[in-house]
Amino acid sequence: MRQRNDTLAAARSRLESKQARLTPARRLVIETLDGSSGPQSAADIAVTIAGAIPMSSLYRTLTVLEETEVIERFPDQTGIARYELAEWLTGHHHHMTCITCGATSDVAVPGDLEATVIDIVSQVGRRFDFEVTGHRLDLQGVCSQCR
Ligand SMILES: [Zn+2]
Ligand SMILES: [Zn+2]
Repeated sequence: MRQRNDTLAAARSRLESKQARLTPARRLVIETLDGSSGPQSAADIAVTIAGAIPMSSLYRTLTVLEETEVIERFPDQTGIARYELAEWLTGHHHHMTCITCGATSDVAVPGDLEATVIDIVSQVGRRFDFEVTGHRLDLQGVCSQCR
């Protein structure tokens, strides 16, 4: 089981390898994303941290963490940038996005189903002479709240 201290230690060494420091603001954003059930927008993070970081500083913090690959920007159809900890920190997972309310949650796919996904993705790669090194699988649909 992954521990928060491991995540922070791994993030700290990544930042240091890029000549950056784990500042209190960066630490708070990492902890907030670590405790989230899905990708978060800057506005979501601002609500969670209740103004602990001024908005302009929060945007700069997100930029640094994205540039150092501690966090990833989640491709979102709504045009709102959402962020999550990079997969090398959190492990491989997929997403489910509700097309009605926009709620996005992480999904850890069970191993047998993940094997099926990898098989399909590899077959597609072979057909187009493409060496697959990874994949993202984001499901769109309507969540139980919105149905
Ligand atoms: Zn919904
Ligand atoms: Zn997968």
